[in-house]
Amino acid sequence: MTSNRRKITPEHPVVVIGSGLAGMSAALRIAPHRHVLLVTKHALGDGSTAWAQGGIAVAMGPGDSVESHVHDTIGAGAGLTDGAAAAAVCGDAADVIDDLAVLGVAFDRDDRGLALAREGAHSLPRVVHAGGDATGRHVSQALAHRVRANDAITVREHVRVDDITVDDHGVTGVRLAGGEHVATRAVVLATGGSGHLFARTTNPLGATADGPALARRAGAALADMEMVQFHPTALAVGPSPLGLVSEAVRGAGGMLFDCQGEPVMAGVHPMGDLGPRDVVARAVFRTARDTGNDVVLSMAHLDPARVHARFPEVAALCAAHGIDLARDPVPVTPAAHYSMGGVLTDLRGRSTVPGLWAVGECASTGLHGANRLASNGLLEAAALGRRAADDVVAGGGDGAPGPRAEAVPVALGSADGAVVRAEVGRIMWAGCGLERDADGLARAADLLAALPAPADAGAAGLREVAQLVVTAAAAREESRGAHFRTDFPQPDPEQAGRTCWAGDHRHVIPADPAVAAAAASLDLTEAA
Ligand SMILES: Cc1cc2nc3c(=O)[nH]c(=O)nc-3n(C[C@H](O)[C@H](O)[C@H](O)COP(=O)(O)OP(=O)(O)OC[C@H]3O[C@@H](n4cnc5c(N)ncnc54)[C@H](O)[C@@H]3O)c2cc1C
Repeated sequence: MTSNRRKITPEHPVVVIGSGLAGMSAALRIAPHRHVLLVTKHALGDGSTAWAQGGIAVAMGPGDSVESHVHDTIGAGAGLTDGAAAAAVCGDAADVIDDLAVLGVAFDRDDRGLALAREGAHSLPRVVHAGGDATGRHVSQALAHRVRANDAITVREHVRVDDITVDDHGVTGVRLAGGEHVATRAVVLATGGSGHLFARTTNPLGATADGPALARRAGAALADMEMVQFHPTALAVGPSPLGLVSEAVRGAGGMLFDCQGEPVMAGVHPMGDLGPRDVVARAVFRTARDTGNDVVLSMAHLDPARVHARFPEVAALCAAHGIDLARDPVPVTPAAHYSMGGVLTDLRGRSTVPGLWAVGECASTGLHGANRLASNGLLEAAALGRRAADDVVAGGGDGAPGPRAEAVPVALGSADGAVVRAEVGRIMWAGCGLERDADGLARAADLLAALPAPADAGAAGLREVAQLVVTAAAAREESRGAHFRTDFPQPDPEQAGRTCWAGDHRHVIPADPAVAAAAASLDLTEAA
């Protein structure tokens, strides 16, 4: 199929799907130029954005530089990061923070200006935050307020998009749950994450992989689908979604201990409790498995008043379960937290389908490689929201270079969607979680295939994406970043390329030579 030059016609609105940081940033930037229809499946501003605690990474402290931020991003990405994406997004960070401040986000300040926190695998304090650990809530509320006040943005809340319609030339519209079709030549997909592919997740209930499912059915390529970040410290109490104990808690001195009181990270990684997320998550997972007891996080050696002042949200979360964050051992478990994979896009947010942009967590620019650096998620959502908006306004209706497949209709049946979703979560946690192997992945693939077809498009999409994640995890016969295979426990330089999928066809995006060289100087091997 060819991607003829297409005109984005002014009589149709630009449709933005999702109202997290990515979607609202895009909508607000498009609105001075074009009418925007913002469709969001829960209330405006609901999504992972509102739950974010730690903050947004930006190189602005003494001795820091964009180059250092890029270096840390590439280091965390374990050889799969796209160097151009890292340079672009880290380079946008100061403008992103300025924009958000202008939109009304009151970032925390100290006597030197914006207060900067240190998080895992960052070489310097680099994370701006708001309301202590309530960054996401502040960002989401400020942007939602602006969106509601903007006459050029029509908001439709509690409406789910179930299909993106296409013809040979690209996007023709979106179909809403219930059947209504909205014609448009420009869709910005900003549907957030996929945490509910797994039985244990930190993500809100809406994080059900809708974006990748919609884009895949429309023929767009998806990339890095095997790369799922498991956060090491979800609160191991109550049902999923599990509360998050932010990495900033360890940045402030919190330490992980096993049931004997031994430090979990001693001898595991030179950065100890602030090592890369995947390394810490596997150490927590193995310690809990081997001892039969939860790992605990302790801040008891720190000043309780400061702990409560710096982490009011986490403290409240713990208090709801009778735990004093500053004094008690806090039981923690890994949980699915962030999808590095998603809709393959270029640095304008263009997918491989003309007229379809994807931004934020549902997209895969290559920034995160095999493992996201802490607080680069919000940054990317805002940076790509801006970039895609500028491209939409400039009339950039052509797709990104890359493979495109035939569009396929959703396969619906009569099974209860909630039951199918729960089964998908159980199968994925057991067979495609923190430690994977060929047998477990094959079993997961069989079990997913045997599930009855659900009656709703959301659950059907979740299962389709789960199947692709399992296929991608089976195809990568090495361990790298968040993807750990017990049967291939070391990285294989021959497999140091990103993989993308158009329909069921696998394509390899060759490794970025500069990143490969940088990654070669890192020790990516790990004791099992
Ligand atoms: C607990 C938690 C803490 C985090 N902390 C941090 C942090 O400190 N720093 C950081 O950088 N990152 C953090 N992250 C990750 C970060 O919050 C997300 O990656 C980011 O907010 C994603 O933004 P988004 O706009 O892409 O998606 P979201 O904010 O998740 O928004 C997605 C939107 O899409 C809507 N939607 C989904 N499907 C459909 C559909 N079919 N039709 C219509 N609407 C739909 C949803 O309702 C929602 O409005 C955290 C994540 C979690 C879960």
